[in-house]
Amino acid sequence: MVGSDGALPLPWLEAPLRAGLARSAHAILLHGPEGVGQFDLALALAQGWLCEAPAPFPPERRPCGRCASCRLVQARSHPDLMVLLPEALREALGWSSGEGEEGGERAGKAKPSKEIKVEAVRAAVAFAQTTSARGRGKVVVLHPAERINAIASNTLLKTLEEPPGAARFVLSCGAPEAQLPTIRSRCQSLPLGLPPQALAVEWLRGRGVADAAVLLAACGGQPLQALQWAGDGVDARQWRQLPDRVRRGEAAPFAAWPLPRLVEALQKLCHDALCVAVGAGPRYFPADAIAGGADPSRLTAWSRELARIARHAEHPWTPGLMVDALIDQARASLTTGAASRRDSRVASIHSGG
Ligand SMILES: [Zn+2]
Repeated sequence: MVGSDGALPLPWLEAPLRAGLARSAHAILLHGPEGVGQFDLALALAQGWLCEAPAPFPPERRPCGRCASCRLVQARSHPDLMVLLPEALREALGWSSGEGEEGGERAGKAKPSKEIKVEAVRAAVAFAQTTSARGRGKVVVLHPAERINAIASNTLLKTLEEPPGAARFVLSCGAPEAQLPTIRSRCQSLPLGLPPQALAVEWLRGRGVADAAVLLAACGGQPLQALQWAGDGVDARQWRQLPDRVRRGEAAPFAAWPLPRLVEALQKLCHDALCVAVGAGPRYFPADAIAGGADPSRLTAWSRELARIARHAEHPWTPGLMVDALIDQARASLTTGAASRRDSRVASIHSGG
């Protein structure tokens, strides 16, 4: 959202925010790669719609960040704004003080849900039908749209089809491949692409990330992910050294990594090794970090195997063994010459055998 200084938290959101505010749609679907700020943009849009800045403040510059409405949004207590998030995301995004939007379900049970549940969507639909407290309509922000479960999605569709009164919906979605055709067809789509590289690097530098260009490339150009990696202790030097260490079969440096991140890093390494093997430039690693000479067909097989593992990486049975096996498999795939029988270890560990 826009702060009291009138500035967006992420400078590259300015253009898409203007594009969104220029639209008259009652429902907007923001979509694009993860890690570029869909949620921040959704909030800024909501804030812009609700902003009460009087003349001479130009309406096309909203949200102002200073009016009573903007302050209520900043305080997360605007009576005409409802933010729907999966329980698991609330705290991370600073909205942990939710008021029973999960249908009265209390914590302490199991893991916080990663889905937006039907009770929450019903509450939002009811909210949208009530009269606006401050007279500028009601706004529901729903993020991420791909986490709406099937039943909840049906509940939402009816409302998106016939929106009540002055209610508006912003749905944001960080999974470009997410299957949301029915929701898509009822919303105006607003794509949010990767920010310009120079802008993202500057922003990361401003947050103390050293060698920001390397980490930004490592994250496929997604600055929020790069910032998170930096915060988790992944630095540019470590990233540069990763291909060499993997080729030497060193598993120790990665033992502390969350498994999904290691799998993702290996997928990127595999992608780049394949690029280099066919004479193209790497995308995620510095060009001098990737050795050529790997066998493309072996890399392709490795890539398929990594994709399969990635689907289950959040629930490994034996994370420690997985790391060893993954590095083993990577080393074998990157090395020309004698094939390794150990490739099968990942598969067998993975199937629980
Ligand atoms: Zn305002």
